[in-house]
Amino acid sequence: MKQSATFIPTLRETPADAEVRSHQLLLRAGFIRQNTSGIYSFLPLGKRVLDKVETIIREEMEAANSVEVFLPAMQQAELWQETGRWYSYGDELMRLKDRNGREFALGATHEEVITDLLRDEVKSYKKLPLNLFQIQSKFRDEKRPRFGLLRGREFLMKDAYSFHATTESLDETYNVMMQAYTNIFSRLGLDFRMVIADSGAIGGKDNHEFMVLSEIGEDTIAYSDSSSYAANIEMAQVNIEYELPTETPEEIEKVATPDQKTIAQVAEFFRTGTENCIKTLVFKADDEFVIVLSRGDHDINDVKVKHATDAKVVEMATPEEVKQLIGCEIGSIGPVALPDGIRVIADNAVKTIANGIAGANEEGQHFKNVTPGQDFDVEKYADLRFIKEGDPSPDGQGTIKFAEGIEVGHIFKLGTRYSEDMKATILNDQGRAVPYIMGCYGIGVSRVVAAVAEQFNDENGFTWPPVAAPYDIHVVPVNVKDDVQRETAEEIYKLLKSNRYQVLIDDRNERAGVKFTDADLIGLPVRLTVGKKAAEGILEVKIRSTGETFEWKQEELLDQLQDFFQKRS
Ligand code: ATP
Ligand code: MG
Repeated sequence: MKQSATFIPTLRETPADAEVRSHQLLLRAGFIRQNTSGIYSFLPLGKRVLDKVETIIREEMEAANSVEVFLPAMQQAELWQETGRWYSYGDELMRLKDRNGREFALGATHEEVITDLLRDEVKSYKKLPLNLFQIQSKFRDEKRPRFGLLRGREFLMKDAYSFHATTESLDETYNVMMQAYTNIFSRLGLDFRMVIADSGAIGGKDNHEFMVLSEIGEDTIAYSDSSSYAANIEMAQVNIEYELPTETPEEIEKVATPDQKTIAQVAEFFRTGTENCIKTLVFKADDEFVIVLSRGDHDINDVKVKHATDAKVVEMATPEEVKQLIGCEIGSIGPVALPDGIRVIADNAVKTIANGIAGANEEGQHFKNVTPGQDFDVEKYADLRFIKEGDPSPDGQGTIKFAEGIEVGHIFKLGTRYSEDMKATILNDQGRAVPYIMGCYGIGVSRVVAAVAEQFNDENGFTWPPVAAPYDIHVVPVNVKDDVQRETAEEIYKLLKSNRYQVLIDDRNERAGVKFTDADLIGLPVRLTVGKKAAEGILEVKIRSTGETFEWKQEELLDQLQDFFQKRS
């Protein structure tokens, strides 16, 4: 492609509102433009990277026996009402009405649509398993769209759905998808981990996320320093046999603690460690208030509270609700002498406390010598806290460390969550109507583009790996007014194209400095500079990712390039 004929609006300055490297460079190098918050256009270079990522995804999905379809983005509300998600999905679902007032959603995900499609067509177990995928725009009215393509409101997703007559069949496909995802992210050269995850609004049981390790990731991964264990911190179990205290409980005593609000302040006031304080939180689990206790040095994980209470939705009670329920501010609440009838659950580690500190449910007052079992009752002990760095790995091997990750893929075993609600059944081998067993598998295609961009860059611009680069080679004639340079460059351009390389030629009448700056910014793997030495048949070569430079004779060009690209594919 001739640079004069395409559209690559590079910028000299870093756009002020772009916080992360990938977003800054995708804008500066002219790959994307923002239309409005969370909504982007792909320009020619961005589109080419997207196409390359899509090609890899398609190849691996097809190799795994998943077949491509294309489902509508406009989805009638009735389908979402059947599963109840019309009501539970909340403000993230983009809703609209047609001219007759009929309600629709713009697809945030496609479980309903695909289940509806199949329930009328696939009625015998003999037609299963079936695995269908699509690559399509998704719409989610995210609260905080940010980091460019990483969290958009309109974004591209590859979503696949599998249908089964037995759980064994689902397990098999799930494992095949796990491998396909591993292949996809490996081929893209991404530094990623597969982690155990929570299923969020989609529902279902087993599920794993694929996380690209990156400082800017919004998720925290807890991994073992000596095994393959890795989990989203939301899900990482704490698997510790705590030793029970041997201290004899002493008489509980109320102490005035004016202005001591945080756990750290209270611990210091009593000259003790935070592990000896009881942290008391009030949650609303569906419609019921629940008191949740942890040690002061631990943090309560609301996903675990949700599982422990079997609630659909849990959230922290507001300060007003706490005041109304218990009669004091959040900083003074505790498990002793609570109003009757409130459930109390506690993290397992609370059992280690004897003669501890807790709020007295009175403004500015705390109790000392508080011992669980002695001074208050707990309905249930469970694993309710976030794992911490330094905790033992739940698989018994090694110690937990943290890393940040960008979620690029997510696979779920849905089971019958959707097929039951939507009465999507097949006749099994005994002639009985049973709901489909389903799996679903997502990749954020546009987010992957950003994740690759985030991983492959340096201070001058992108350093695309060949598999994702918009073109393979950048041919740069230094001075297009020089006939030898211009003609040599064109000759090379044609030669490379006829050898199936994807080539961009900078045929613009610009200063050399401008051309080199743009070339570094765009970051194609190989730059061939056609300058003064062109007359002697010599080309200057720069390998973008390493910064290495060489001089190649024109006649050895094809051999050298073949060697380079073979090593890196
Ligand atoms: P997140 O936790 O990041 O909000 P999610 O769990 O809601 O993601 P899924 O429903 O699992 O996402 O969607 C499948 C994939 O789509 C994700 O793994 C992610 O790569 C991508 N994705 C989700 N939301 C966005 C978004 N707002 N912008 C870009 N990609 C997204
Ligand atoms: Mg997810």
